[in-house]
Amino acid sequence: ASHFLEVKNMRQYFPIRKGVFKRTVGHVRAVDDVSFFIDDQETLGLVGESGCGKTTLGRTVLHLLKPTEGKAFFMGQDVETMLSDNPRGIRQKMQIIFQDPYGSLNPRMTVNEIVGEAVRYYGLCSKRELDDYISEVLSKCGMLPEHRFRYPHEFSGGQRQRISIARALALKPKFVVCDEPVSALDVSIRSQILNLLNELKEQLKLTYLFISHDLAVVRHISDRVAVMYLGKIVEKAPKLEFFGNPLHPYSHALLSAIPVPDPKRQRQRIILEGDVPSPANPPSGCRFNPRCRYAMERCKKEEPPLVDVGNGHFVACFLHSK
Ligand code: SF4
Repeated sequence: ASHFLEVKNMRQYFPIRKGVFKRTVGHVRAVDDVSFFIDDQETLGLVGESGCGKTTLGRTVLHLLKPTEGKAFFMGQDVETMLSDNPRGIRQKMQIIFQDPYGSLNPRMTVNEIVGEAVRYYGLCSKRELDDYISEVLSKCGMLPEHRFRYPHEFSGGQRQRISIARALALKPKFVVCDEPVSALDVSIRSQILNLLNELKEQLKLTYLFISHDLAVVRHISDRVAVMYLGKIVEKAPKLEFFGNPLHPYSHALLSAIPVPDPKRQRQRIILEGDVPSPANPPSGCRFNPRCRYAMERCKKEEPPLVDVGNGHFVACFLHSK
């Protein structure tokens, strides 16, 4: 049986152009041969440092950026084919919530116009029912019907993110890419927004790809976790398996940065040395080798494959494969 969403060997390479004639002199390999699946009503948390390609991957899965190679299948059907057959149909079912609720809402439109614009475009309800429909969606997202007549700048960051969520969910999607939806918000309101996303997921039977640089946030919201480093997935596992038995040295470093309530159980902080190498010129062999304290000779030459170590757990590291 096919998965709800399946991504196969996806690549997103951006050309680097130089000189007067803008000749292509190389490529930034932002997403480099990534495969994963998400089951119906599941949340996959995609985690990694900024610049690792996770945002590009989210956009490429939705085909907001055309993949250089590879395919995404939504409920068993090729997204590219669905887009050419019926672009509105598939665009409505796959939505995105952005990190920045300040930049993603048009400041000159009222909340009513912001939410209503897309609902009208997709013809999801009649003109007569539109106001009631918008009020209902807003209240699901914790806003009041009278907020409809106000402008984005009149709201706090948390409320603006609620409006962005309402705009996406008003379209009755089935799959939502949440791209760092709480990173721009105050710590005090992050859990409110995460809880809202969780409640809406239950209520509306949604499936999420949840992108974040913060493993604590990913732990709160995900069913499974995938760790990305320099354009590649280096580890993926069900949440409890991942947090109980992380295997990749990069995952260890990310995990050591999360504070835990009991200081005796705090892992020793692993400070990663060196900067993140450029995805235009990634290190040969294992891309993590210049920063890995376990790096062996072969790690500089060979690329470790992502191997199945049981319990739905996959890792790309020679410490865990032959
Ligand atoms: Fe470190 Fe080698 Fe494993 Fe890469 S393959 S993470 S360099 S031990």
